[in-house]
Amino acid sequence: MARYTGPVCRLCRRAGEKLYLKGDKCYTDKCPVDRRSYPPGQHGQGRRKLSEHALHLQEKQNLRRIYGVLERQFERYYEMAAKKKGVTGEILIQLLERRLDNVVFRLGFGSSRAQARQLVMHGHVAVNGRKVDVPSYLVRAGDVVSIREKSRELDLVQANVQAAQQRGVPGWLSLSPETMSGEVLQLPRRDQIDLDVQEHLVVEYYSR
Ligand code: SF4
Repeated sequence: MARYTGPVCRLCRRAGEKLYLKGDKCYTDKCPVDRRSYPPGQHGQGRRKLSEHALHLQEKQNLRRIYGVLERQFERYYEMAAKKKGVTGEILIQLLERRLDNVVFRLGFGSSRAQARQLVMHGHVAVNGRKVDVPSYLVRAGDVVSIREKSRELDLVQANVQAAQQRGVPGWLSLSPETMSGEVLQLPRRDQIDLDVQEHLVVEYYSR
C-alpha cells in the first residue's frame, strides 16, 4: 500500500482525536480537531456509533498513522511483538518508539515524525557517529543519535532544537543541544511514552 499523501489533518478529524501529525501546528488553536471536532465530509456530523470491530480497526489505524508506518510494515512490528515475552501491546509500542525517525522527533531535531523522517532519509542523521539514512532503524540502549556536523547549520534544525529545549525530552533519552546529539539511556517503558492510544484494542484487532 502506498504512503498516504493527502491532507493529514483529515486523518485526525476522521479518527476524532489529535494524532499530532503536523508538528507545531498541532499545539496551536489552528488545529482543525479543536476547531471542528466532527469527521470530515458532507455527512461528517451525522455518523453513527462504531461497532467493536470498527473501534479496534480505528485504534490500529491511529497507531499506524501516528508513527507513519505502512500497513505491511506495521503487521511485521506486530508479529515481532507477539513473538517476544511480555505484554504484546507494550512491546509493539516500544518497537515503534525505537524507530530512528521517532527518536529524531522525540529529541526535537524534527518538529514532526514526517519531518524527522525526511531528515533521516536525506542523510542528516548519524547513529554512533555513522550516517544512517534508514528511518526504520531500531535504536538500542547506549546509542547516540546526532545531527551530522555539516547539517547542524540548517535553520530548520536550529529552530527545532531551540523549541525542543523548552519542551524537554522523554526520560529514556538525554539531549545535548550544543552538540545536537542525544543518547538512548534505556529502552522506553510504556509509562515514559506520551501516547494516547489503547494498545490492547490493537492487539484485539490482530487476535480476532
Ligand atoms: Fe492533527 Fe495536528 Fe492537524 Fe491538529 S494540526 S488535525 S493534531 S495533524
